[in-house]
Amino acid sequence: MVRRLEDRVAVITGGGSGIGLASARRLASEGARIVIVDIDREAGEAAAKEVDGKFHRVDVTNEEDVRSLYAAVHGMYGRIDVAFNNAGISPPEDDSILTTGIEAWERVNRVNLTSVYLCCKYVIPYMLEAGKGSVINTASFVATMGAATSQIAYTASKGGVLAMSRELGVQFARDGVRVNALSPGPVNTPLLKELFAKDAERAARRLVHVPLGRFAEPEEIAAAVAFLASDDSSFMTASNFLVDGGISGAYVTPL
Ligand code: NAD
Repeated sequence: MVRRLEDRVAVITGGGSGIGLASARRLASEGARIVIVDIDREAGEAAAKEVDGKFHRVDVTNEEDVRSLYAAVHGMYGRIDVAFNNAGISPPEDDSILTTGIEAWERVNRVNLTSVYLCCKYVIPYMLEAGKGSVINTASFVATMGAATSQIAYTASKGGVLAMSRELGVQFARDGVRVNALSPGPVNTPLLKELFAKDAERAARRLVHVPLGRFAEPEEIAAAVAFLASDDSSFMTASNFLVDGGISGAYVTPL
C-alpha cells in the first residue's frame, strides 16, 4: 500500500458505517490521522478505535456542533488536511414527489445538503489559513442521472451538493484548497443487501443499467476518496468524480 497521506489529518463525517468507515480504514492505511464524526456513538467509537483515531459525536445538521468540531480538531492537531463530508440519509418516506411530505423533504435536505454547507463553511477557513486542503463532498450518481424509481428529496439534495462543490472548487482554486464532489453509483451496503435479498426483481431492475453488472463495494469508493484526498489528484478541483460502474455513460449494457 502506498502511503500518500502520511501524518495528514482527515475528518470523516458518517465515518461509523458504510463508505465513511471503509474510507477511514483506507486513509488510515495510507498514513492519515483519522477523526471519525457520527451521530451514532457506538458505531463511531468502534470505527475510531479500529483506525487508532479520535471520535466526535456530532449531529452534522447542528451549526454550533459543526463549528466547534473543526475548532477542536484544529486545536488538537494544528491542521486539517482532508474533510470528507459524507454523512447522509435515504429514508423510505422519501419517494415520489406525489407522496413525499414536506417533513421528509426538509429532513433529507438538512442532513444531506445543509450539513455539507455547514462543514464546508467551518472547515475551509482552516485550510485557507494553511494554504492547502482537500474537501470531498459525497454526492451521488443521481445528481447526474434521473431515476423512475424516485427519491425526490435525496436526488435534489445531491444535486445541491454537486453544484455547491463545483462553486467552492472554483472560488478557492488559487488558494490551494481543492473541493470535489464524489458521486458513487449504488454501493453494496448492508441496507441495500437486505432490501435486494428480499426483492430480486427490484435488484434486477437496477442492475440492468450497470455496465459492470454489479454494485460497488465500499472499498472501491474508499479508493477514490484516498485519491481525491492525496496529492495524486492535485490537478482536480470542482469536479464531479463519478465512481459508478459505467452507469452514467451507458445506453445499452452488455448481456
Ligand atoms: P451509511 O448509512 O452506511 O452511513 C452513513 C453514516 O452517517 C451513518 O454512520 C450515520 O449514523 C451517519 N449519519 C447520519 N445522519 C447523521 C447526522 N445528522 N450527523 C452525523 N452523522 C450522521 O450510508 P452509506 O451508504 O455509507 O452512505 C454514505 C454517503 O454516501 C451518503 O451521503 C449517501 O447518500 C452516499 N451514497 C451512498 C450510496 C449507496 O449506494 N450506499 C450511493 C451513492 C451515494
